[in-house]
Amino acid sequence: MRRFTNVKGFKIFEVSAAEVKAIGGFGICDSCNKLSNIGYIMPVLGSYWYCKKCYDDWDAHSKFYEEDAEYEARMNDRWVKIFKSKGIIEDL
Ligand SMILES: [Zn+2]
Repeated sequence: MRRFTNVKGFKIFEVSAAEVKAIGGFGICDSCNKLSNIGYIMPVLGSYWYCKKCYDDWDAHSKFYEEDAEYEARMNDRWVKIFKSKGIIEDL
């Protein structure tokens, strides 16, 4: 699991399929429904886990709106809490 802020200013979690399964997911992309070994959670979208291709597609068209920042921060904290509860985030 790796956290970063992308060039457009979105908070992103890069999460492996194994890690997604540890928190109750299936390792299946929520956009194209294909299996993937690595995926991305975008807190600004809520609970979706996208494969690399769908993340790149979203990233190409996404635009950061200031009014989404509060929702993103709230969802980000929620994901941090979930990952932390499974011992997946160490650096807090
Ligand atoms: Zn996909």
